[in-house]
Amino acid sequence: MAWDFSTEPDFQAKLEWVDRFCREKVEPLEYVLPYAVRNRDPAVRGYVRELQQEVKDQGLWALFLDENLGGPGFGQLKLGLLNEIIGRYPSAPQMFGAAAPDTGNMEILAAYGTEEQKARWLTPLLNQDMFSAYSMTEPQGGSDPNLFKTHALRDGDEWVINGEKWFTSAGRVADLLFVMCINGMFVVPRKTPGVEIMPEPRNHNHIVYRDVRVPADHLLGPENGAKVLAQRRLGGGRIHHAMRTIAQCKLAFDMMCERALSRESHGKIIADHQMVQEKIADSYASIRMLRLFVLETAWKIDNTSTAEARTDIAAVKYTMAKVLREVSFNALHILGSLGTTDLTPLQAMYAAAPTMGIADGVDEVHKATVARRVLKDYRPHDGYWPTEYFPAKREAAWKTMQPVLAARPDLAQAADSMQKYMASTRH
Ligand SMILES: Cc1cc2nc3c(=O)[nH]c(=O)nc-3n(C[C@H](O)[C@H](O)[C@H](O)COP(=O)(O)OP(=O)(O)OC[C@H]3O[C@@H](n4cnc5c(N)ncnc54)[C@H](O)[C@@H]3O)c2cc1C
Repeated sequence: MAWDFSTEPDFQAKLEWVDRFCREKVEPLEYVLPYAVRNRDPAVRGYVRELQQEVKDQGLWALFLDENLGGPGFGQLKLGLLNEIIGRYPSAPQMFGAAAPDTGNMEILAAYGTEEQKARWLTPLLNQDMFSAYSMTEPQGGSDPNLFKTHALRDGDEWVINGEKWFTSAGRVADLLFVMCINGMFVVPRKTPGVEIMPEPRNHNHIVYRDVRVPADHLLGPENGAKVLAQRRLGGGRIHHAMRTIAQCKLAFDMMCERALSRESHGKIIADHQMVQEKIADSYASIRMLRLFVLETAWKIDNTSTAEARTDIAAVKYTMAKVLREVSFNALHILGSLGTTDLTPLQAMYAAAPTMGIADGVDEVHKATVARRVLKDYRPHDGYWPTEYFPAKREAAWKTMQPVLAARPDLAQAADSMQKYMASTRH
């Protein structure tokens, strides 16, 4: 049976292990030592390594990488199922070696890097001995890559990069910057002279690249291949975000249901008020629809390719942003004043929801992509009327059924009577 929504028992057992591991070990560490994965203190690092070893022993490390790229090769569907658990805990993706922006950078290194580049950068990134950032957006142009200006000039055995990038997440603390130039994708160690990090914004950095010289072998993939690499990188990244967004939506949903059963107002628990029930019912259906859409898209990628699933990846991208906005708002609202504080995850989740409609491409651009690609399968109708115009369809149906009616006079007589009756009711 092809339409099977169950999970293989072996993998289900792994998911249950992941759930337990996150609840019992990852979440407590988040409260006691926030940002532990990036902590340089040997004691913290040692403990993080121990936890990561447990993940590796389960064969769940760097699950995003396909087998041909050196990963375990579980594929996107299984990654989706895993992400909808780990996406609930902010530090869990790093604990599983599957956190953005490193994942996308590792994916293009694995797919396009030479053996030498992989040894130099992919292995330390996979082991979290290094961290990376992705420099694509520019101050004067985000949604339209044709406005980008950063370029590299070949000078003997080196490339000289000049330009400005904006919103390079975690650029300030990255060891490596993956810089999208108009004529290629380059790997630039952050400490290279000429890399200037502006004071603002603090987390998503504005970086000036001024006469930054890197050896010739820091070009990743072919010269002029940056757009292809960027598509590959962002395609995977968008669906991974969507998978983790399901986890965030479920967290908000769990919180709204628990609270709805715990508070009373106007003589009944708030879960008994119909407008609260509507929020719960709408949120439930939205999350179920998003989950199915994300998992089906992941399944499509596994069975075709990221390129072939592009329409659905784009549609998933703006759908997840919409569902997160809706569900986090509903949950925040049901928690009332408490929801507006920073004492639960909801306020930050709701505040961050609009960024999901901007990061990795704004909703409008993805919607335009979807509409353009979907419309390729349609043609304008001939003449004045659309294909579903009843009079034309009726006329065509009479022609199609003529041989049947000719062979069956009783059927023809019934059809004739029906035609007269319908004509009489139309006026
Ligand atoms: C949290 C976060 C993290 C990010 N991390 C990174 C990162 O690590 N590296 C990186 O390079 N970039 C990063 N970005 C930047 C992101 O890729 C850009 O924000 C995005 O591409 C949009 O560019 P922009 O912000 O310049 O918006 P603009 O291009 O200026 O668009 C602004 C608005 O104009 C409208 N608009 C634009 N184009 C169209 C169109 N074609 N049709 C209709 N309306 C349109 C939309 O309303 C859009 O929201 C991040 C962004 C966020 C929010």
